[in-house]
Formats: sequence, C-alpha cells, structure tokens
Amino acid sequence: MKKKILTIAVPCYNEEEVFDCTYLRLKGVLNNLIDDELISENSQLLFIDDGSKDATWGKISEACRIDPYVSGVKLSRNFGHQKALLAGLEEAVKFSDCVISIDADLQDDTSVIREFVLQYLKGYDVVYGVRSKRDTDSYFKRTTAEGFYKLMGKLGLSLVYNHADYRLLSKRALAEMLRFNESNLFLRGIVPLLGFKSTKVYYERKAREAGESKYPLAKMLAFAFDGLTSFSVKPIRFITGIGFLSFFISFIAGFYVLVEKFMGDTESGWASLMISIWLIGGLLLMSIGLIGEYIGKIYEEVKHRPRYIIEHNLCNKHANTKIKTKVHV
Ligand code: UDP
Ligand code: MG
Repeated sequence: MKKKILTIAVPCYNEEEVFDCTYLRLKGVLNNLIDDELISENSQLLFIDDGSKDATWGKISEACRIDPYVSGVKLSRNFGHQKALLAGLEEAVKFSDCVISIDADLQDDTSVIREFVLQYLKGYDVVYGVRSKRDTDSYFKRTTAEGFYKLMGKLGLSLVYNHADYRLLSKRALAEMLRFNESNLFLRGIVPLLGFKSTKVYYERKAREAGESKYPLAKMLAFAFDGLTSFSVKPIRFITGIGFLSFFISFIAGFYVLVEKFMGDTESGWASLMISIWLIGGLLLMSIGLIGEYIGKIYEEVKHRPRYIIEHNLCNKHANTKIKTKVHV
C-alpha cells in the first residue's frame, strides 16, 4: 500500500525564541516516522507565520531553504491563531493525506504524534489529543479553561473536554471541515460536528518551552465569547426567559402597588420603584447587548470577507521532485 503523506501544521506568532527548538523536535519526530516506514517520504512540516513582528518568518524561510521537509506560509498580518491554522490546513489539504495541527510552543507532547498516526492508519479520520492534566498551566488559566469547557457543554455545544487544537485530521475530514466557511471560526467546535470515526489520545500538557503565552486574558475571553456565540443561541433564549419572568413579576408588583395605593400608603413605594427601574433598565441593556452580539456575527458572516491573506507561500508541494538531504538532529 502506498504510504500516506503527513503534514504537521504549526501556527507561529512571535515565536522566534522557541522556533529552533520546535523545528528540531518536530523534525526528529517526522524523521523517525519516515524511517519506520509509517508515513511517506513526502511528509513535511508546515509553519504558518501569523504576521509575527519578530524574526519568526526569517527563521521559517531559512528552514524552508535548507530543508526540503519544511514548508512555510506567511500571512500578511496577524489574523489570530484559528485563522492561521485554517490557512495552514487549507494549504496542507492540497498535498497531504492527513494533517496534524500543533502549537509552536511544544506544550503538547510531541511523542504522541506516533500514536496519532497509528490510529489514523487503523482507520480513524479524527484523532483528538486530550490533556490528561494541566498541572503546568497557571491556576487561573486552568480553572478558567475548565470552567469554559463545562459552560460550553451546558450550553449544548459538544466540545471534547480538555482538547485544544492538537489533533489529526484525515484528508476527507479536512476537506469536509473546510466546507464550513463561517468567518467566526472556532475549529474545535466544528470538528465534533464532522462525524467520521474518531478517537482520543491522552497526553500531559507541559509548560511552554520558551517565550510567553500569546493568549493574554483579554484575547482568551474574546475567544471564549466568540466560541459561545458562534455555536449556541441559548444565551439569547436565556435572556428571553428572564424577560418573560420579569414581565410576569411586574404584574405581581403592579398588583401590590395598587393595593398599597388604595390603602393610602404610597410614599414608601419610592425605593422599590427605583430598584425596578434599575433592574429593568439593566435587563434591557443586557438583552440588547447580547442580541447585538449575534447581529454583529450575522454582519460579519454576510460580508463574507476572506478569512486570511497569504503574503508569501513557500509550500513545497512536490517534495518528491527535490533532492532530499536528511537534516539529522
Ligand atoms: N498564535 C497565532 N496567532 C495569534 C496568537 C497565537 O498563530 O494571534 C499561535 C502561537 O504562536 C502558538 C499557538 O497559536 O503556536 C497557541 O498560542 P499560545 O501558546 O500563546 O496560547 P496558549 O497555549 O497560552 O493558550
Ligand atoms: Mg501554548
């Protein structure tokens, strides 16, 4: 049987500190898989530079130049992790049988890549990398992330618990995923919707090899909120429910006010009046804000803008036509 072509797609944003380490580590993994004849000689690493401001692209293009097993794509500016990854997947699907996506910081254990491939060769189209524990993340990151997965689950969005964007997708799963062409992209929410035969591989998440997180709190919250409103209309329904409830309560309150009035006891109503104005005003603003959020989403979608723009494309689509010099690590 013809050996399968694997591409490992790695989005990088200001990762100059960790790039060499990541490149050598992944290259080692790729070499071993090729040597063990699990994957084709045409397999490669694909680095996507998400508009970095440091020397990341310089390092990627240099690696592309010296190593036929490396490809690179540079986006014209910073588009965000999900879109950078999407750019990589869209390139990779053209010349690969399966693609693994992994972060550049080596927090995800690269030694399970072999297991990913073995599961793929067994016939699985989707292999999820799942963190067995998150000891190395800060307490804050851990609890917020776990809270997020739980909340999403309650809101009816089936996310794989403790799975981020470390996964293998077969060519056909990837091709189907790329048909989801929404602008508000939340890949880990889309993958479970694909169906196909899937499995999980567990690993321990480590600390970042170098550099610092490119996901500060504000970006993380925006990402969580995007994920939530892209997939679930439950928040809107919840607000509508509260609206009905307060409407119902206002009848009871009205009745109470009338009774008080007829009993000639009205001044004391001021406090409750003020409270209700604030309460209802707040509820209204909250509802309008939330509905606006969805309208904003619709606005984004109908514009149908390109999700990313490629400035340089150093994809080595015909790896087999080049002379292979194995760079030993
Ligand atoms: N990343 C990206 N664009 C961004 C932010 C991050 O391509 O705007 C990449 C980053 O280089 C890394 C991955 O996305 O490979 C995950 O980012 P990071 O490790 O900083 O996030 P964390 O693990 O802290 O959630
Ligand atoms: Mg990270």
